[in-house]
Amino acid sequence: MSDDYDVLVIGAGTGGYSCALRLAQLGKRVGLIDRDEHVGGTCLLRGCIPTKALLRAAEVMDTVRRSTDWGIEASGEPDWDRIHAFRDRIVEKLVKGVTGLLSARGVEVIRGTALLLPGPAVEVDGRRLAAKDVVLATGSRPRLIPGVELGERVITSDEALRRPAPPSAVIIGAGAIGLEFASLWRSFGSEVTVLEMLPALAPLEDADVSKEIARAFRRRGITGVPGATVRTVKDTGSAVDVTYEAKGATTTVSAQVCLVAVGRGPVTEDLGLEAAGVELERGFVKVDDQLQTTAPHVWAVGDVASTPLQLAHVAFAEGYAVAERIAGLDVPPLDYALIPRVTYSSPEIASVGLTEQQARERGHDVEVEILNLQGIGKANILGEGGICKVVAERGGPILGVHMVGPHVTDLIAEPMLAVAWEAAPAEVATLFHPHPSLAEAFGEAVLALAGKPLHGV
Ligand code: NAD
Repeated sequence: MSDDYDVLVIGAGTGGYSCALRLAQLGKRVGLIDRDEHVGGTCLLRGCIPTKALLRAAEVMDTVRRSTDWGIEASGEPDWDRIHAFRDRIVEKLVKGVTGLLSARGVEVIRGTALLLPGPAVEVDGRRLAAKDVVLATGSRPRLIPGVELGERVITSDEALRRPAPPSAVIIGAGAIGLEFASLWRSFGSEVTVLEMLPALAPLEDADVSKEIARAFRRRGITGVPGATVRTVKDTGSAVDVTYEAKGATTTVSAQVCLVAVGRGPVTEDLGLEAAGVELERGFVKVDDQLQTTAPHVWAVGDVASTPLQLAHVAFAEGYAVAERIAGLDVPPLDYALIPRVTYSSPEIASVGLTEQQARERGHDVEVEILNLQGIGKANILGEGGICKVVAERGGPILGVHMVGPHVTDLIAEPMLAVAWEAAPAEVATLFHPHPSLAEAFGEAVLALAGKPLHGV
């Protein structure tokens, strides 16, 4: 095999492998480089997939605990070896699937640490590979808090994923990772405190979503402290003491584990970026709206790129877009405003488009419907509540949809289409939603906005 590629992709996570697969489909000779033993990156190996497998086990635990609600006498205890074996089975199956697909499409997976060279070219553990284009897809890793050292009791999601639920935990950060682990661990009986620096849990979501998740977490016995400034995190040898300030008072919580979930930073060091002319922006690889870096023929996708939202489905879309652009297809810039945001806590959170506040700040004449899931038959059968909030321009299109409740991470796909196609509530209201289904929540909310609520007064 020669060392001349059309494209070399550095990083075999969602962004990198989707880009490589599409490039191969478009007839390119592609090398996909990763230092990890397996392809899949954060999403498959340490993120989305293993955490959702654990959250499924948590859902089963919750169902067992509440089984008499449905007339079933049942009891059960977690068996962590088997829960982790379930997580590993799912991950292994999906890794095998991606590995097989890459091989079937003729993508050459190269194991090693890559260094970008001017040109561009890439050196992998001393071997020089040539390419017409290089795609950086090196991803991200957990951010740390300055002065807070990781250890046996102070951990990030990378470690949290591999352990049984601790008896007690303090979680710093109420973004997606913080909320998902709070939910997961609470389902297995942990005493959980979540400290969030900003004034609300899920602070980037619509204010009504933040309120609803705070209420739901309170009911589940999770302590949420917004507006908290963490002062110290101290491992005492038998526990970890976290001292924070909120509302003018200083409090210390002691727990078995402190999870640091304050965001993820890009992986850019020792990649040869500066020498190759690739500039950074706030630490991320600077890209234009085509995802080209400042070095000719060097592109960046996924968490390492300076685009909004570090999400696997964004990385996938960016990987595809870059593959097609390299192959000479005309691909318009991605519209990040249309990307659904999802959190797999119990209850789940999902949203797309503008929050009510953003819509007002942008000068829209806004109307809003907040549908309570208590009015939806299927939600009652499942024994879960929540909301579906629709934000629309008065007499105009739906601008945003914000949901809390069961399976809303699946349900958000329909509102995504409505927002993307700038559908008016009255237009969606002429369409059909199966009964009884959770999809009726969105259907009923748009009926209400169209002035003809089915159940409302
Ligand atoms: P995040 O940026 O979503 O949330 C971090 C939170 O920590 C923020 O609310 C921030 O205000 C808070 N914070 C920061 N510093 C703090 C401090 N010192 N004290 C208290 N709070 C502090 O990051 P994350 O939850 O760590 O997730 C990382 C990335 O991975 C995000 O982009 C996230 O969207 C993505 N992710 C997505 C999913 C999903 O889509 N379901 C799941 C997990 C992670």
